[in-house]
Amino acid sequence: MERQPLLITMFGATGDLAARKLYPAIFQLYQNGHLSKNFALIGTARREWDDDYFRSVVKDSIANIAESEKLAEEFASHFYYQSHDVNDAEHYIKLKNLAEQLDAKYALQGNRIFYFSVSPKFFPIISAHLKSEHLLTDTGFNRLIIEKPFGHDQASAIELQRQLNDTFDESQIFRIDHYLGKEIVQAMTNIRFDNMLFNKTWNKDFIDNVQISLMETVGVEDRAGYYDTSGVTRDMIQNHTLQLLAVIASKEFDKHAEESIKFEKNRILSNIKLPETPEDMANTVVRGQYCANPSTQTKNYLDEEGVAHDSKTETYFAAKLELNLPEWEGVPFYIRSGKSLNQKATVIDVQFKPTNSQHEGNHLRIEVAPHLGYQLKINAKEIGYECHTAPIVLSHYYSEEDLQASPDDYERLIFECIENNHEHFAHWHEVKNAWVYIDRLHELWQSNPDLPIASYTAGSHGPQEADALLDRLGHKWLLQ
Ligand code: NAD
Repeated sequence: MERQPLLITMFGATGDLAARKLYPAIFQLYQNGHLSKNFALIGTARREWDDDYFRSVVKDSIANIAESEKLAEEFASHFYYQSHDVNDAEHYIKLKNLAEQLDAKYALQGNRIFYFSVSPKFFPIISAHLKSEHLLTDTGFNRLIIEKPFGHDQASAIELQRQLNDTFDESQIFRIDHYLGKEIVQAMTNIRFDNMLFNKTWNKDFIDNVQISLMETVGVEDRAGYYDTSGVTRDMIQNHTLQLLAVIASKEFDKHAEESIKFEKNRILSNIKLPETPEDMANTVVRGQYCANPSTQTKNYLDEEGVAHDSKTETYFAAKLELNLPEWEGVPFYIRSGKSLNQKATVIDVQFKPTNSQHEGNHLRIEVAPHLGYQLKINAKEIGYECHTAPIVLSHYYSEEDLQASPDDYERLIFECIENNHEHFAHWHEVKNAWVYIDRLHELWQSNPDLPIASYTAGSHGPQEADALLDRLGHKWLLQ
């Protein structure tokens, strides 16, 4: 297939994300023939690098994956560096001139992707200068890739969107939520829609409860100062967890019709039942902070450098969500995420209702990371003369070899942006509506300072209060 010529301008080109994820992803696209040979990349950031040094950084970042040094060299030759301060209008003119030279040199036809791999506080200023200094072309496409966080609350997200919309309309904006680029998350539609077994049973009549767990073993590390202004609800729940919820709870949509996907995900995110009172919060929400564990040499969260000694920021969050939708009436969606837990895992558990009181219902486990695969617990017969029912587990996990062949999250998403495919991005209305739930939590926490903060030992599976949350309805966390 003919690939489109393309210029990528990477803001934050000297940063950690660019070297760790973005250059390897772009290289894989190049190596696999998914990127036109007519491409160039301008890296820009504050440091005074030159092209040669930039290319050496790029080559280092792909050293483990390049099939040959020659190919790595050839790829890196498409990279150019221009130092730049986001606030300096003059620098955008230099960027524009370089972009025009490269456009002519590589016959790029004016196709441009601007990747903002910088702090979101710079998004408005860069975006405004791209317009005022005429870096967008009339001859090709102009697209913007940005990463979370999209605002700190709904009001700031709306303001950010307004500022970006001065330069880019929504059809040009690609908001990366890298969970949506994961193999198993993308496979959810195949699993759900293409199996009669699940397609017809994915509703309140057959499903008892759903559990979405995003567990991390790391603490706040050197991000404590930032983290203390964010907490897990803004860092992991507003985006990744609620996006997974939208993918899991949506009705069948046309996989290849962007509008259908957006409509369904937005329908879920705009129908999350909000806690109304402090009592609702006490019954449906648990927030927690980790405390020291000498055996893992973890400090109390409150003793981490950069954390206020009286901080109420949550490093753990669990909640029972309900959706104001007839097909999910009465079905709890339990979500949880936290730092310094006993395991690093992203897992979705779907517990089906039992056929009768003698047997357990089916249980579908979808493992998104670090292992990729599925387990389905069904009722079968115990081996022997008697006809006793006993559960067995059918499972499929992808091998290392399979995974080698699977594109990385960023590789997939950058490719989809080049193809102008918005299917696996976080759309504006989803982002805006996801903030409604998070904002309500913070309003109630602020106006009711006595709402408890549970503590949990670093390295444990989380606070006991999160077990009690499920216990009340006779449930338990299926991932322990
Ligand atoms: P980083 O601190 O390593 O890099 C930041 C980049 O911004 C550097 O290239 C720096 O030179 C540039 N920069 C800073 N101030 C500038 C200025 N005034 N003018 C021009 N350039 C300037 O950060 P990172 O880890 O690469 O992350 C980049 C962004 O991506 C972050 O803001 C974060 O929100 C987001 N993000 C990162 C990750 C990750 O895994 N690292 C994951 C998700 C989202």
